[in-house]
Amino acid sequence: MKRVIILAAIVGALLGWFLESMEVGADDRRYLRQTSCSGYECSPPPLLPQQEALIDTGVWFWEYRQDQGVPSLHAPIQAALDDFAFETGLLALEAPGGNLQVARSSSTFYYGDGFSPGCPGAVGCLNRYPTSLQIWYDAPVMATYFFRSQVQVALHEGAHAIADAGEMYVHTGGRISCDGKSWTFMSCGIGTSLFFTAFDRVTVSRYLLPQSFTGGVLVGDAVVYGTSDSRTTRIAVYYETYTGFRFWTGQTLPVVSGVSVERLALPLGRCTGVLLGSENALPISWGRDLQLIGWSSCE
Ligand SMILES: [Zn+2]
Repeated sequence: MKRVIILAAIVGALLGWFLESMEVGADDRRYLRQTSCSGYECSPPPLLPQQEALIDTGVWFWEYRQDQGVPSLHAPIQAALDDFAFETGLLALEAPGGNLQVARSSSTFYYGDGFSPGCPGAVGCLNRYPTSLQIWYDAPVMATYFFRSQVQVALHEGAHAIADAGEMYVHTGGRISCDGKSWTFMSCGIGTSLFFTAFDRVTVSRYLLPQSFTGGVLVGDAVVYGTSDSRTTRIAVYYETYTGFRFWTGQTLPVVSGVSVERLALPLGRCTGVLLGSENALPISWGRDLQLIGWSSCE
């Protein structure tokens, strides 16, 4: 009898594993709005207007609201935005008119409020995405979580809003099946990462930062350069002295479509290298992947 029970348990576990492995892959994708391919290695979709403003200014505006009588989620939301600030250099400013983060009662969260639909089966959601980046939380349920788990929910929802990060668990067909992936906060359930991971950093940087070099060449004291990708808002000019010291010259070149010529603003001494950096207003894009386009004569 005991053997039968053990055998049944093994079969049950194998069947459970089999069913689970069939489910995995249904939703796992890097970006929510990616259409060109499925999986992790897709090119990111176009920026939404609020995200365009983020790479233009470096500022992410947010506004907090809560229903009457529910526990506050202001502190974990603030902590999650602090993590985004640390990772990308963005400035998270709490101001009226910013992207809404709302701590709702469980019934409003479930059924909606007449303007926005509810989010049954979840604890947080962007219920009008991509029209709006507002985030709703089920505040009474989240109040039962320990603090870092609340931050994880705010990181997960925040990454949807800031970087179009895709779900890393099963959520199609009205089903939510958390699989607790330890290598991303875009999963859910016990075991999911409570912090930024290498995978999450790539998701965010691939979405918000320049991914390609404009191409350029130094001709005398002029720079000839070409078209940039959609995440580049300016080309920064750096010099490198013959001793290897690199510094930003204070000059940025405008992004153009086609080929443009700009004169160097800082007099170019002898034996000096000129480098270009594709940048936007997010500090992590600064001084990164600089491309050497030529040297002045050492004569
Ligand atoms: Zn999600």
